[in-house]
Amino acid sequence: MSEPASEFAAVGECLCGAVRYGLRERLPPVGMCHCSQCRKVSGAGSIAVLAVRNERFAWLAGEDERQTFALPSGWSTVFRQHCGSPAPQPTPQGDPMWVPAGGLDGDPPLSLSGHIHVGSKPGWVIIGDDAPQFDEAP
Ligand SMILES: [Zn+2]
Repeated sequence: MSEPASEFAAVGECLCGAVRYGLRERLPPVGMCHCSQCRKVSGAGSIAVLAVRNERFAWLAGEDERQTFALPSGWSTVFRQHCGSPAPQPTPQGDPMWVPAGGLDGDPPLSLSGHIHVGSKPGWVIIGDDAPQFDEAP
């Protein structure tokens, strides 16, 4: 299952290194979500994720080392319990995967697609880029 990193446009891992993944071909843009759930799980003003089609996503290690926490609404977050890092998780449709942008190694060439749930963003978060903003989800 493990493949050489050179096959990938980007690779990522959790802080302790147990969960590793690779992204193939063109990297999708980063979306920023400012909703209250994403702020709670990130501890920051927003969360940054890439929606990566399953055919372009590969587990390199630790797929089974992830834990899931789900709210009664069905909203869920997936993380590595040992180190607390967010981990890739399938979208509710099963494809694509949500991949945490901050988990990627180095500085892959990523663009920004936009900001969602800006309507619930706290006042101390100042958006300084010119990507599209949506009060809720588009
Ligand atoms: Zn959110």
